[in-house]
Amino acid sequence: MARLILFGPPGAGKGTQAVTLAADFSIPHISTGDLFRAAISGKTPLGLKVQSYLDQGQLVPDQVVIDMVQERLAQSDTAGGWLLDGFPRTIPQAQTLDKLLQEMNQSCDRVINLQVPEQTLVTRMLSRGRKDDTEAVIQDRLQVYHTETATILDFYRERNCLADIDGDTTVEAVTERIKAALADLT
Ligand code: ADP
Repeated sequence: MARLILFGPPGAGKGTQAVTLAADFSIPHISTGDLFRAAISGKTPLGLKVQSYLDQGQLVPDQVVIDMVQERLAQSDTAGGWLLDGFPRTIPQAQTLDKLLQEMNQSCDRVINLQVPEQTLVTRMLSRGRKDDTEAVIQDRLQVYHTETATILDFYRERNCLADIDGDTTVEAVTERIKAALADLT
């Protein structure tokens, strides 16, 4: 059983690490970015609503994200834990998640903070070549990360549930570092 949040700037490697972590702990990987991209390619009402935000590297409005995550956490496969990737990304999202978890008699075990220097982030995103990985949109996403997202680190640091991980190395070495930081949960 583990309830985890994977945190870090865009391009930090959250999605890559999440796949291994979710398999190791046998918990569902809940990526808000993946859920939005699936909605966009499926042309669902949610997809149509969020497309322009993703295209411009802007945050989707809090309530839209929160409703989607709330619905996802209510599904039965989360009974044994979950791994959130890309959420929360703002203070109101973090506060609302707290409230939701309280209502469900749950709490987050650990927030894994993947730390990667900006130049590495840009290089990684450019080589990944996702639709929102153009130079201008990358700059916008980094800017949004600094102004809106990074501030929630203090929120979690105060609760002593934050694990800082140096993510500026190989995929395998980062995985080992994360596992070591979670060893007490297994
Ligand atoms: P990355 O972390 O590499 O930027 P993600 O796949 O996590 O990519 O997110 C892609 C986009 O989806 C974000 O730029 C944003 O537009 C939207 N998004 C994802 N999660 C959230 C969130 N929690 N709040 C608001 N917008 C979000």
